[in-house]
Amino acid sequence: MLTTNPFDLPDANGDKLREECGIFGASGSEGAAALVALGLHALQHRGQEAAGITSFDGAEFHTHRAMGHVAGNFDSPAIIGQLRGNVACGHVRYSTTGETALRNVQPLYADLASGGFAIAHNGNISNAMRLRRDLVRRGSIFQSTSDTETIIHLVATSNYRTFVDKFIDALKRVEGAYSLIVMTPEGMIACRDPLGIRPLVMGKLDDAIIFASETVALDVVGATFVRSIDPGELVIVKGSEVSSHRPFAPTEPRPCIFEYVYFSRPDSISEDRSVYTVRKEIGAQLAIESPVDADLVIPVPDSGTPAAIGYAQQSGIPFELGIIRSHYVGRTFIQPNNEVRHLGVKLKHNANRALIKGKRVVLIDDSIVRGTTSLKIVQMMRDAGAAEVHMRIASPPTRHSCFYGVDTPERGKLLAANMNIDEMNSYIQADSLAFVSIDGLYKALGEANRSDTRPSHCDACFTGDYPTMLTDHDDVASVDQFALLAERVS
Ligand code: AMP
Repeated sequence: MLTTNPFDLPDANGDKLREECGIFGASGSEGAAALVALGLHALQHRGQEAAGITSFDGAEFHTHRAMGHVAGNFDSPAIIGQLRGNVACGHVRYSTTGETALRNVQPLYADLASGGFAIAHNGNISNAMRLRRDLVRRGSIFQSTSDTETIIHLVATSNYRTFVDKFIDALKRVEGAYSLIVMTPEGMIACRDPLGIRPLVMGKLDDAIIFASETVALDVVGATFVRSIDPGELVIVKGSEVSSHRPFAPTEPRPCIFEYVYFSRPDSISEDRSVYTVRKEIGAQLAIESPVDADLVIPVPDSGTPAAIGYAQQSGIPFELGIIRSHYVGRTFIQPNNEVRHLGVKLKHNANRALIKGKRVVLIDDSIVRGTTSLKIVQMMRDAGAAEVHMRIASPPTRHSCFYGVDTPERGKLLAANMNIDEMNSYIQADSLAFVSIDGLYKALGEANRSDTRPSHCDACFTGDYPTMLTDHDDVASVDQFALLAERVS
């Protein structure tokens, strides 16, 4: 029987390979690192576990990486002062392991034959383990367990001549989701994978070019939005010269729909849509599809708030803040183990008792993942004397894991992968439970329906329709099958 990891790699559930992240870059601004620190602060919701900034001063690269939030690690003038130069990029990261090593915190840096190379990545490479195994066999020595390091080794071992050609060669060999900001002594490159799964936008601040995961990060530094980086596009900034390159065969883009549901900040603009407006519209669709007789619409703060406003406006039921959130605890999900996650929910939310007693309430949240939040919140409403508790969810049931950089747990832990809606309703002990339909979600984006042949977004977490190969996942599955077979034979 196979008992060891066939790839000699860390367990995907241990030293995590999958991450949620935000990236920011500034080129052509004196004190670029200070801008990056501010930009990362606005992207903190995308990753709260670690942060890093790398700058280049024309001769040398400087890096500071730390566990924890941007504030506290990057607000000291001494640290920002060390990050000299007018080009800098940074990264905020979240992974679920308790023992995340500093070596995995980005930007990752390597001295290549072509010179220094720093890389910040949002997304997840779905064939990283396969590539890594091949690279290790050919002599590459990895310094981290991050999938992003694979790109560094692919660049280092590429037979192409120029750095840009090596980089493109590397990207053509990776599958999955990547929005990247890289720095070399020649300049900065920002790029998105051919499907544009994760976001990346470009802005301008005086003569400086800015790249960021979301437009909120442009707002915070006072930059103006120029445009999104197109799926499959590389934007190269060398001094004041900006050029655009499209090295991949054109394909229909599939940006992540979950960015609208939960991940992006509501004040961001994504693909010309206000995330806030889309969330409100999802709430309105939910009210049309799953109405309920009730006295109050209550958001599960903060992620359910825009959808709850939409539900209330559409249904005519008054919107009230029936749950008050403490702003001094992180996102519920961002707690490493179940016990703490449960505790986190209690710390984070409290019922506004005076409002709820004797009322029939509709609770609105953006998603159910493990069901922990819903179970606690429904109970909290009952403890506060609610007469009826109806749960409405502003996304379809999350039935599949994400392999593209949103940290959904493995399928076995997703409530909707194991239960139908009635069973989920019994589990969370609500009086009724309903989710917006997949077509309702697409309608909220301004589209007629989800096209089965050519969906405009990646919605794999809801549909299981993954837009890329999942080489590592399939490798593991085939090894598991092999092990099963071997067990049966013996
Ligand atoms: P759960 O309690 O496991 O059902 O998680 C659901 C809650 O986690 C919802 O209130 C969401 O706002 C939030 N959530 C959903 N997806 C994610 C994610 N990928 N990362 C962090 N939080 C999430």
